[in-house]
Order: sequence, then structure tokens, then C-alpha cells
Amino acid sequence: MRSAAGTVPPRAQAGMKDSWKTRGYFFSCVCVPEENLEIDSADADIRMEALISSLEFLSGDVIRACLTTREPMDFRAGQYVTLIRNGVARSYSIASLPQAGELELHIRKIPGGQMSGWFHDAAQVGDTVSVVGPSGECFYVSGREDQPLILAGTGTGLAPLYGIVRDALQCRHRGPIHVFHGALNRRGLYLVNELRELARRHPQLQYTPAVLGGDEAGDAAVGPIDSVILSRIPNLSGWRGFVCGDPGLVQMLKKKLFLAGMASSDIYADAFLPAAPS
Ligand SMILES: Cc1cc2nc3c(=O)[nH]c(=O)nc-3n(C[C@H](O)[C@H](O)[C@H](O)COP(=O)(O)OP(=O)(O)OC[C@H]3O[C@@H](n4cnc5c(N)ncnc54)[C@H](O)[C@@H]3O)c2cc1C
Repeated sequence: MRSAAGTVPPRAQAGMKDSWKTRGYFFSCVCVPEENLEIDSADADIRMEALISSLEFLSGDVIRACLTTREPMDFRAGQYVTLIRNGVARSYSIASLPQAGELELHIRKIPGGQMSGWFHDAAQVGDTVSVVGPSGECFYVSGREDQPLILAGTGTGLAPLYGIVRDALQCRHRGPIHVFHGALNRRGLYLVNELRELARRHPQLQYTPAVLGGDEAGDAAVGPIDSVILSRIPNLSGWRGFVCGDPGLVQMLKKKLFLAGMASSDIYADAFLPAAPS
């Protein structure tokens, strides 16, 4: 269950991820309330209309779409929303911070894709879509400001990570933060200058772009993202990790982070699973 108002006794949240606790989830079977608790259904997501306020290419196949909801949405950077249009529902991660007053989404064009195709080929500023959410537990929770953090993803897996890293910095995270963004080649990387600038302003932040192909790598690291990470940080004991993007990659990285010493309760992940065929 989930509490909408009131204090949940700590015992009812024992063993839960910090992000679940922050959202008010608790185990009803061991919950003995000590004060009035207002209860919500655990999947009480909100549906509302949103207006496309801007559309901009971040790379050859990734578009940044900013949406303004009719009423303010209470979300955390790194969570995701589900967009609904003409009966098609697809989820996208939130790259913006709530103070921005809009939902920033990074949408990669999938050949023949219904939702991503519409955003890339037909959508206009001023068009509307329905938004359900927010959902997901992949976001920064403050309280352990000295803990080292690793954020890793490929492709538009950067969207939630771009939100999470800025959230952590805004929450005055002091420990080292390493952002790894992987792509097939240099053209697949995006927000490179923005992340470099962020790292320049925050000495605890390191940003490593990584590509598989070496020819046009420029100053990006070359190699599979897991090798690039582990060659730089072989021991991840005591670290917290955020892993997002392609489902196969997320699964593999979760395993590698765990085997390098990271506690499974410190691994937050969002796999961008394709929608089931309709
Ligand atoms: C929690 C979550 C967060 C997500 N966040 C993002 C995000 O931030 N940015 C983003 O771009 N996407 C994200 N996705 C993926 C997104 O929800 C859609 O699946 C994607 O945009 C494709 O939808 P579509 O309607 O364009 O394609 P569809 O019409 O669903 O698919 C068209 C065809 O392409 C195939 N296909 C679908 N996805 C892929 C793929 N990734 N690679 C190869 N073939 C594929 C389908 O099987 C189908 O044959 C997320 C998914 C989840 C579950």
C-alpha cells in the first residue's frame, strides 16, 4: 500500500529501497499505525492532458520533447510517464527537474514506431497528448550525501540519468558521481557539451562518454560500457548505481555492478522494454 498523508512506522518499510520509502510505500501486513494514515492504492497514478511546448533534435535520431501538463505534476527526475495518443501508450523517462515546470523527454526514433515516429515526423508545438504517471523508482534519494554514485546508460538511457545527476547535485550530494553514457559511435552521443560543462562546475562529477567504434571516437572512451566502467572503478562496494536504457544492457550491467561489490538494494534500474504487440 501507499500512504498519501501521515507518518508510516519504520518497521512497515524495513528492507525497502529508499526510493520506495520516499514515495510512501509500506508493507501493510506489518504496519501498526501510530497516528492517522491516509491510504492510497499502490497504483494510484494520475492521468492528465499535456501540451507540447518545444521539440528539438539532440542528435540525428533523438528528439527532446518538452511537455507542459495542465496541472502541476508531482514527479522526481528519473521517473517515467506514459504518453497516450490515439489508443497507443508508451513510456518515456523524465530528464527534467520539477522546478523546470515541464516534462523533458528524450525520444529516439524507432523505424516504424507508432509513438516515436509521430514525435519525429508529425508532432507540432501546441499538440496535446495524455500523460499518466509518474511511475518508477529510479531516482535520487538524499540522506547519504557522501556515498559514491555511478550513473550508466546507452542511447536515450541518458534521459533519466541527466535528470538524476542534476537532482543529486541540487540536493548537495558531496560524494563522487560518475556518469557513463555509451553509444555505438560518436554520432549517438548527445548532451556532451552540457555534461562537460556540468562536470566543470562540480568537481565531484566525472562524465565519460564511451563508444564502441574507435574510428571517430574523438575524446570518448572506446569499448563496451561495462568494460569502460570496470576498468576505471573495479571495486563498487559501498556505491549506489543507476542503470537505464536497453533491457539487455540494463540486465547485464546490474549483474556486473553486483559482482563488482555493489549491494543489490543500492542498484536502481529502468529497462526500456518495448510495448507488447497490440
Ligand atoms: C520505463 C520505460 C522508460 C522508457 N523511456 C524511454 C525514453 O526515455 N526514451 C525512449 O526513446 N524510449 C523509452 N522507452 C521505450 C518507449 O516506451 C517505446 O517502447 C519506444 O519509443 C518505441 O515505441 P514506438 O511506439 O515508437 O514503437 P512501436 O510501435 O512500439 O514499435 C515498432 C516496432 O519497433 C520494435 N521496437 C520497439 N522498440 C524497439 C527498440 N528499442 N529497438 C528496436 N526495435 C524496437 C517493435 O517491436 C515493433 O516491431 C521506455 C520504455 C519503458 C518501459
